[in-house]
Amino acid sequence: MKALGEFEVWFLTGSQDLYGEETLRQVAADSERIAAGLNESAAIPVRIVYKPVVKSPEGIAAACLEATASAACVGVIAWMHTFSPARMWIAGLQTLQKPLLHLHTQFNRDLPWGEIDMDFMNLNQAAHGDREFGHIETRLGIARKTVAGHWQDPAVADRIGSWARAACAWHEAHHLKVARLGDNMRHVAVTEGDKVEAQIRLGVAVNGYSVSDLGDAVRAVPEAAVDDLIEAYESSYELAPSLRAKGAEREALREAARIEAALRTFLADGGFGAFTDTFENLDGLRQLPGIAVQRLMADGYGFGAEGDWKTGVMVRLLKVMARGLPGGTSFMEDYTYHFDPDGPKVLGAHMLEVCPTISDAKVSCEIHPLSIGGRSDPVRLVFTAGPGPAVVVALMDMGDRFRLLANEIDIVPSDEPMPKLPVGRAVWKPRPNLATATEAWLMAGGAHHTVLSRAIGPEPLADFAEMGGLEFLLIDADTTIRGFKKELRWNQAYYHLARGL
Ligand code: MN
Repeated sequence: MKALGEFEVWFLTGSQDLYGEETLRQVAADSERIAAGLNESAAIPVRIVYKPVVKSPEGIAAACLEATASAACVGVIAWMHTFSPARMWIAGLQTLQKPLLHLHTQFNRDLPWGEIDMDFMNLNQAAHGDREFGHIETRLGIARKTVAGHWQDPAVADRIGSWARAACAWHEAHHLKVARLGDNMRHVAVTEGDKVEAQIRLGVAVNGYSVSDLGDAVRAVPEAAVDDLIEAYESSYELAPSLRAKGAEREALREAARIEAALRTFLADGGFGAFTDTFENLDGLRQLPGIAVQRLMADGYGFGAEGDWKTGVMVRLLKVMARGLPGGTSFMEDYTYHFDPDGPKVLGAHMLEVCPTISDAKVSCEIHPLSIGGRSDPVRLVFTAGPGPAVVVALMDMGDRFRLLANEIDIVPSDEPMPKLPVGRAVWKPRPNLATATEAWLMAGGAHHTVLSRAIGPEPLADFAEMGGLEFLLIDADTTIRGFKKELRWNQAYYHLARGL
């Protein structure tokens, strides 16, 4: 089973009737083989489903409508094996409501130099069939990803795979329900946003729920459910002595388990894929949820602290994008800097809520005071993120549009141990360097909350932004302040114009 094998991408080949039956049979056979070849690629996490070759405006419109209506289909790959006059595609493309990838390939990799004749040329003419198709896509302003290359080239499969991951996240966004327990942290700007616009743009439904109802649910958790979770904690983590059986803080661990059990039931019963809380509204909760949030994130839930539903949405979507890939994905916050000129670094963490999937080592379960929130000491998981390339991503509401901002980073070991830091954390060097990356991030109005993923790179993020008409900005090894400033200014004008009246 593929990592996102419940989802399908339909492989749609364009042609036309005038080639005659024999040629069209060959077109169909070649297309079926390409679809099967892509389906077998480990780089593509969804099922690639071959669809009969389309040859007429009616057939094209019917196929596009069928793809739009299909619950399993998350996107369509279109390819013109032969010429397929593109006015035939207008009605179909106008009805297609699924992400589109234009694959510019041909069945044969090599020209059969000694054998080539006009029959071969007429059969294998994607070189101009796809130009005709690309023209109408552009004329209609259709958002899509264009991938050129031979279908057996691993680089082509990788790029299709990235897009398929983004398409699954796009599908998830349109089914995602987010529960907000408490409002945004008072006076905070960047965690705010337009929920109606988010639903129009991304499909996500964000709604508020009472924390005191959750508190009542915590009180109602059966002791047997608490026992089960304690057993899971003991087998998964290194427990601090005070949290072990007969330890002085054992009851706090049981309370943390009660909160986890109640949250799990609440999220499952409501069909939620992401949630937020805030330390400013903890009615009925004796601790700010720590280990509960961390373990729910590890199971794939999105989370944003301090009411940050946008980051909660993105944590969930990146977890869907990254499914089956090594690494891990977490809620994150840029916390503090190491400005040593020999190796400037960022220390990222949060008060409690960092996902243990980004750790490669044993995770410890500890209890420490929290100076904020005015409740009992919360139980939390403590670890350090494993090294390697990663990305941090933030979604901001700029007032007239959503901006998706990403920075490629390299997670590195800490220079020295940090035995007094009681939270999950990551130490990284942003690309191209700390000064340029942070200057660019600040100029872009980037948030302090992010999603950190060791599992995916920027390509599926760019693909996702394309699907949603979101602005996408990437800070990477090639970023210069001069260039980035221009990109911001040009985007400002572009999105203003693109919005229309
Ligand atoms: Mn925060």
